[in-house]
Amino acid sequence: RHARDTAEAAREALTRDGRRVTVSANVGSVADARAAAATGADGVGLLRTEVLFLDRDRPPTAEEQEQEYRAVLDALAGRPVAIRTLDVGGDKPLRYWPQPAETDPFLGVRGVRLSLTRPDLLRTQLAAVCRAARHGPVRLLVPMVTVVEEVLAVRRLLAEAAAPGPVPAGLQVGVMVEVPAVALDVEAFLPHVDVLSIGTNDLTQYTLAAARGHPALAALADPLHPAVLRLVGETASRAAGRAAVSVCGEVAADPAAVPVLVGLGVRELSVAPSAVAGVKAAVRQLDTGACAELARRCLAATGAAEVRALLRAAAPDA
Ligand code: PEP
Ligand code: MG
Repeated sequence: RHARDTAEAAREALTRDGRRVTVSANVGSVADARAAAATGADGVGLLRTEVLFLDRDRPPTAEEQEQEYRAVLDALAGRPVAIRTLDVGGDKPLRYWPQPAETDPFLGVRGVRLSLTRPDLLRTQLAAVCRAARHGPVRLLVPMVTVVEEVLAVRRLLAEAAAPGPVPAGLQVGVMVEVPAVALDVEAFLPHVDVLSIGTNDLTQYTLAAARGHPALAALADPLHPAVLRLVGETASRAAGRAAVSVCGEVAADPAAVPVLVGLGVRELSVAPSAVAGVKAAVRQLDTGACAELARRCLAATGAAEVRALLRAAAPDA
């Protein structure tokens, strides 16, 4: 019974009309990666590497990082793993890397902005990613990108990190779509990326100017606001056929939100390991034509509450 459930979970998720939607997992450790594999995830859509870097006196070496990334690849047994470079800011202090206090950490030097101030540390991480990529399918994800120059700078460091060899041919390079400017100007990024991974947690806070986790703004900071959905849809439609587009924010784990994401053209979701089976089950209920129609209505809605009402009305057992 348990073995049968596991096999069922690991089956690919196809919509009723036969379109594949991959459902991968967001993980922060090798233990998470094993849990993801056990729940039938199609891969790791987001490896948050922060855990490796926090609470220690010196940064992890390339060898330590390579070992961790390879262990995650091993846990997923040949399925793809998206490794995100260090995503911290002034709000997460590192003992070996003192940073000036930020008055406004979410609008400050964080993610790739911070990484590019210490190219030595970023190059070490990229070297570990290159080494891991020789052992399995790896995507590199760059967090908090705002402008194309940041992608070009990371690509230059990636080439240096791979030296004396070339960057592994199978290594895909992607950016996180977390800043509205990227979604609005996605054409500028497409020549330089293989993957766009939409981080709706940050994209929502920057679109609605409502800090993540702010206790008074939870209702305002709704990833199903039509303005956020429009940015997701623009990204997916402009990237179609040119880059893979995935959604890895919390909203992807909400079965009620899956139809609108699929309707906007998203074919890759990445969710907490515990949500993989439920999201696959939701995908199997869907018809992509009906989802596209639903998405059109959601984009025309006035506010997140109306979107949520539309999604409830469209739900299979409503
Ligand atoms: C996001 O911003 O949606 C995301 C997936 O990244 P994190 O939650 O780690 O900021
Ligand atoms: Mg983020």
